[in-house]
Amino acid sequence: MIKLVNVNMNFRGKQTLRDINLTVKQGEIMVIIGPSGSGKSTLLRLIIGLLKPTSGEVWVSDREITRMTEDELNKVRLEMGMVFQYSALFDSMSVGENVAFGLRQHTDMPEEEILRTVRRKLRMVGLRGQENAMPNELSGGMKKRVSLARAIAINPHLVLYDEPTAGLDPIMSNTIDRLIVSTRRMIDATSVVVTHDMSSAFRIADRIAMIYDGSIIEIGTPDTIKQSENPIVAKFIRGASA
Ligand code: ATP
Ligand code: MG
Repeated sequence: MIKLVNVNMNFRGKQTLRDINLTVKQGEIMVIIGPSGSGKSTLLRLIIGLLKPTSGEVWVSDREITRMTEDELNKVRLEMGMVFQYSALFDSMSVGENVAFGLRQHTDMPEEEILRTVRRKLRMVGLRGQENAMPNELSGGMKKRVSLARAIAINPHLVLYDEPTAGLDPIMSNTIDRLIVSTRRMIDATSVVVTHDMSSAFRIADRIAMIYDGSIIEIGTPDTIKQSENPIVAKFIRGASA
């Protein structure tokens, strides 16, 4: 479960998120939509504790993370996987080493099992047999998929996806959508997905929240969002799926 209570985030005095109140239930897939610069990535960074809010509380699995020490935060992060908007792979490590990273750092899983897990996760993202490739040999979409495999390798309770299908072709986007849904099913993960892809949003979401200029201006099931009478929401959905 994730809960944000009256969260405000300022960067050098500029208010980027305003009074955010948001609860994502255990096992739920919450999709965040909104224009570029509206604060979506900032919201994810607050949830994973990479940023501390200017004011307000961030709760993850019944723990308030804003007051935690870096050590405590690192423990909580072991339960979280994040796919960053710009893939953030370790360039000096092979694909396999990237995916294995969390398992080697934070578990005592035997090496054979790590290698098996890496193979399985790479297969799930359509990268069978790419263990030995280096990140700089891959296309942008392939890097994105490696970071997805890395995020889910540790079977996190909570997965944050920042534009997981950006730069992927429609068939691969579809594969990633199915992976997000099956990850939820397999490990009952709570998921927050930021996306500009409206068809993907409506396909995978339990609920959708729209951020506009730092505020959540609408939240509800895909059906209620589709029928929103807020002109900003209606226009955004029409524009983004056109
Ligand atoms: P996009 O769809 O383009 O990825 P976004 O909704 O994810 O946009 P954010 O990356 O959250 O937007 O940025 C929201 C605002 O906060 C922007 O005006 C951005 O310049 C500002 N911002 C984000 N991170 C920082 C930072 N570390 N320092 C200063 N300003 C920042
Ligand atoms: Mg962003």
